[in-house]
Amino acid sequence: AFDVLVVGGGPAGAAAAIYAARKGIRTGVVAERFGGQVMDTMAIENFISVKYTEGPKLVAALEEHVKEYEVDVMNLQRVAAVVPGENLHEVKMENGASLRAKTVIVATGARWREMNVPGEKAFRGKGVAYCPHCDGPLFKGKRVAVIGGGNSGVEAAIDLAGVVAHVTLLEFADDLRADAVLQKKLYSLPNVSVIKSAQTTEVTGTDKVNGLVYKDRNTEQVHRVELEGIFVQIGLLPNTDFLKGTVELSRFGEVIVDAKGQTSVPGIFAAGDCTTVPYKQIIIAMGEGSKASLSAFDHLIRSSAP
Ligand code: FAD
Repeated sequence: AFDVLVVGGGPAGAAAAIYAARKGIRTGVVAERFGGQVMDTMAIENFISVKYTEGPKLVAALEEHVKEYEVDVMNLQRVAAVVPGENLHEVKMENGASLRAKTVIVATGARWREMNVPGEKAFRGKGVAYCPHCDGPLFKGKRVAVIGGGNSGVEAAIDLAGVVAHVTLLEFADDLRADAVLQKKLYSLPNVSVIKSAQTTEVTGTDKVNGLVYKDRNTEQVHRVELEGIFVQIGLLPNTDFLKGTVELSRFGEVIVDAKGQTSVPGIFAAGDCTTVPYKQIIIAMGEGSKASLSAFDHLIRSSAP
């Protein structure tokens, strides 16, 4: 059996594996796709101490660092369920195999909810963005839209308004859903316009984004907005479906963890974008993965199982 079995091979999972292996304990990683969301990232400019890097390059460095230690990496394997046990937990894979571990660290990340309109996929990284903290500065002095008028959309619009030339916020419903205090701040900004009852139907461009098309849901009229960037803020979906009924999840599906990364089940820990820890970023996921791993080690030295 593994002492520590990490589910997920993104920044959180890689950090957890390295911290565990450095304790000289039996460590494994099961990942559907090693590297996680970082594989889909173009420019990374906020990984502190590295001024600029690119997703695949950072993933290669992560892999090299993990391989420096005795970690059993099982890539291209999807976990279907975790079955908690008294001393050993069982991790069931989709291919029918199952693994046993004294502690499990869940680091399965999340994915951005997409609009699913023509042009969105084609212009991803070429004007279509999902993370204002990551990509906001790339649009300095340009015109952008934020899709979504919930808290994250309105926060993104306020954030971006300080960097870009102009922000158009588009909300599908007839009203914004964000907290009143955020809406007040939003409406006080001179370079923001808000369009409600707007259904985005297309992202347009040539080599890069040059605009979007939306339908006014009340009049059915179709309009076009010229711009250089689109931030989609319609939700972040944690990859935790396989944990329903196993560990406690928030109403958004995030694994509820305490300050040490412990879940509601002793010996099962979680880290990174799949958890309730706020702000989904690479450097935060790595810190949380390291923390969960130290907590797992702490659990192991306190438990009776040899
Ligand atoms: P993830 O990176 O999502 O990794 C999850 C891992 O779990 C993957 O290996 C996945 O295959 C695996 N997995 C999922 N489900 C299962 C399962 N059932 N069984 C087995 N394995 C499973 N952050 C920044 O700090 N700076 C940036 O510039 C930046 N840019 C971004 C750009 C884009 C386009 C995107 C999508 C994200 C960006 N982020 C950026 C956010 C950052 O990538 C995430 O915060 C970070 O990757 C989270 O790490 P994680 O390890 O928690 O999860």
